[in-house]
Amino acid sequence: ATMMTATSGKTTCPYCGVGCGVNLTLPYSANEAVPPVSGDLEHPANFGRLCVKGSSLAQTIQSDDRLLTPMVGGHPVAWESAIKTVSAKIAQVVKDHGPDAFAFYLSGQILTEDYYVANKLAKGFIGTANVDTNSRLCMASAVVGYKRAFGSDTVPCNYEDLELCDLLIMVGSNAAWTHPILYQRIAAAKKQRPNMKVVVIDPRETATCDISDLHLAIKPGSDAAIFSFLLSDSVQAGILDQGFVTNHTNGFKAALAQANESTPSLSLTADFCGVSEQDLASLVDWWRDTAKTITFYSQGVNQSSSGVDKCNAIINCHLATGRIGKEGAGPFSITGQPNAMGGREVGGLANQLAAHMDFATPGAQDLVQRFWQAPNMATKDGLKAVDLFQAMEEGKVKVVWIMSTNPMVSLPDTAQVRRALEKCELVIVSDCKAHTDTTVMADVLFPATGWSEKDGTVTNSERRISRQRGLLPAPGEAKHDWWAICEVAKSLGFQSAFSYQSIHEIFAEHAALSAFENNGRRDFDIGHFSQISKAEYDALIPVQWPVPEGRPEGTKRMFEDGRFFTPDGRARFIGITPSFPKSRASQEWPFTLNTGRVRDQWHTMTRTGDAASLAKHTAQPYVEIHPKDAKRLAIKDKALVRLTSPYGEALLKAKVSRAVALGNVFAPIHWTQQFANASVVSNLIPQVVDPLSGQPESKHAQVRLEAV
Ligand code: SF4
Repeated sequence: ATMMTATSGKTTCPYCGVGCGVNLTLPYSANEAVPPVSGDLEHPANFGRLCVKGSSLAQTIQSDDRLLTPMVGGHPVAWESAIKTVSAKIAQVVKDHGPDAFAFYLSGQILTEDYYVANKLAKGFIGTANVDTNSRLCMASAVVGYKRAFGSDTVPCNYEDLELCDLLIMVGSNAAWTHPILYQRIAAAKKQRPNMKVVVIDPRETATCDISDLHLAIKPGSDAAIFSFLLSDSVQAGILDQGFVTNHTNGFKAALAQANESTPSLSLTADFCGVSEQDLASLVDWWRDTAKTITFYSQGVNQSSSGVDKCNAIINCHLATGRIGKEGAGPFSITGQPNAMGGREVGGLANQLAAHMDFATPGAQDLVQRFWQAPNMATKDGLKAVDLFQAMEEGKVKVVWIMSTNPMVSLPDTAQVRRALEKCELVIVSDCKAHTDTTVMADVLFPATGWSEKDGTVTNSERRISRQRGLLPAPGEAKHDWWAICEVAKSLGFQSAFSYQSIHEIFAEHAALSAFENNGRRDFDIGHFSQISKAEYDALIPVQWPVPEGRPEGTKRMFEDGRFFTPDGRARFIGITPSFPKSRASQEWPFTLNTGRVRDQWHTMTRTGDAASLAKHTAQPYVEIHPKDAKRLAIKDKALVRLTSPYGEALLKAKVSRAVALGNVFAPIHWTQQFANASVVSNLIPQVVDPLSGQPESKHAQVRLEAV
């Protein structure tokens, strides 16, 4: 190892949406293979704590499988030549087939600055809104839920609220494994204040239930009914905040009528959800009695064909009781990835334009066009992830640039994803790894910098913008993603708009756009940073947006004044009718498959797979089966099981367990063919999406099981 020098060793963990501050000890001594990693004591997300994934980050720094040079057609080439190949093909397909023949498929792993230039190039200069991202698989439903209710994609709460609440309802989240530091903070708060209640709503008994006072093991996908009933009950029980509803909201009566009709009684609701009346009554009692309530929700809510409605069912309850914009109260969606929120901020989803403006936002297209001086503004929404890959298979999208993500493992129905990529005329993949299930599909590979080398900002689940710092030098020819995008843009003839000398200039431009003709009308405003210098950017301390001009300390909690970002400033109730997942059990496909994560792996293991110690917790992929089902099918614990769905199959080891209900099975999503010669679980998942958010129902598939 070489001795390193760096101004600061502070950076941010790249794994999950908690966004913990990490300290790399630099320079590190010559007899250490990698720099020691520790939690940043000053970072407000973690105050020095790190979970097992974060603590093992150093083991992933020096991977044997780095992509070190650009490759075209399997041969190493110089960057200049690879850039020319890509820009010539983009220019040709845009000329011959129009701008929508090109698409970006990005990732919550790339940094906000990378996202910003990709979004600008596609939507302002090439002229397509085909910019989607694996964040579609993560929080797209939460975004639409917030926008419907608040007129903006605004997360109201902060992590401290989780410690200050008296009732925490965790829905569709196994935070103990997926957001471990938040879970630890919650567990510590509960220990200090034993009266604080925690309720887990999840079909499966997970590690998160260890701290729960009540676990409602609902029928898969039935969660909206609970919140529909809580809305009705809040009126019955007299806990409606009439002043808040009258002065700050619209649509209450209609939403209440729909709730009364959908979930007319506690017993019918309990029956719909498959839980006991007694258990549901406990939650209802605690809800009635506890003003300081947070509803904390994640992928179990979002990855659903009715994910947006579920989000709004939750938000409705908080609006009705005025439990929002106050200490220890609010609806709080937790993002999966470190920068799932940063992508949203720049507009890095196909249905967004830029800086939390949509194509439909009045005046937004003109505003962004003037700000960018854009020659070819996109004028309509692009294709969301699943539609995008279908358009590739149909030959409509001909060139795709995939960045920092592995759709061959993570998107549903991976057989379709393969057909889509095979049909494309050019697949460009930017990655720091040479061999993933997706890099093998690429015509052009761009070697990217990885964590500890890349430089920029990310935004965590509490709207906190933190720096990921480039502390170590890039190996080989690896370059930052923003640099590669700007080089392609310049090669396409867009010289002046992409001639950034340094990354802080991109951040400053992003900040300036967020404040451009804003005047408090839009939620996302970080105008304070519009003139940021390189030195200030390098020294940036974590801060929660909005950070408008004159408010450098940022914003801890949103909606404290009861003003929302709808045109009339009032929040909206949304009437919802609870529904079950689209695929239903049948004789042919009798088992319901739920998917999720294990404690020590991340995504498709392209990073955590390099850390040997992380394999100890769960060494192999598995499927959890209820003992009675296992017995009936003569499946023994640890024996191989074949899971089949209409879309594919997977071979997994049986883990016989009462954590899943009869007729249900659970399998983690991480393992891959390329990486571990293991079955890809997403093979089994249908491409069913929420009609409003386009988020796939990845938590749900119908399968058949057989002993092998
Ligand atoms: Fe990293 Fe998330 Fe663990 Fe924090 S909780 S150390 S961000 S994986």
